[in-house]
Amino acid sequence: MQKAKPKHTLLFTVVFLSIGIGVIIAFNATKPQDQQVHGESIAYHHHAMLGYYLNGQKQVVPANIGIGIDNGLGPAGMFPVHTHDASGTIHIESKQAGLQLSFIQFTDVWGLDLSDKRASLFVNGALVDYKNYYFNNGDRLRLEVVD
Ligand SMILES: [Zn+2]
Repeated sequence: MQKAKPKHTLLFTVVFLSIGIGVIIAFNATKPQDQQVHGESIAYHHHAMLGYYLNGQKQVVPANIGIGIDNGLGPAGMFPVHTHDASGTIHIESKQAGLQLSFIQFTDVWGLDLSDKRASLFVNGALVDYKNYYFNNGDRLRLEVVD
């Protein structure tokens, strides 16, 4: 009977230590999430490149597409899909992890109406349906429009 007591004490010590360590790990794991909710943290920041051709002529993709249009999901004062310069670099940035952004959302915010034109979108060399394309980090896009 007397031999059993120290074993129980050891067992309780191990259990309490495990719970304590578990609580510390769980508390630390929730910290970064709290900071993301209350701050301006961006969940991801991806880039794609766009070359735009109208009737075979290379066009400039304007700078500042989506700047000044804030739907609450992008960086402050920016639509989640935007440009900063006229290099053709498209920035895809969201506060919401896993949010998928489409080419149509980009052309809408750009003000580029493709509905009455023949438009072909090539992504990394392959023709895709531009109405069903969602941006992936590092994609290279070529938009060919015929009036
Ligand atoms: Zn960027």
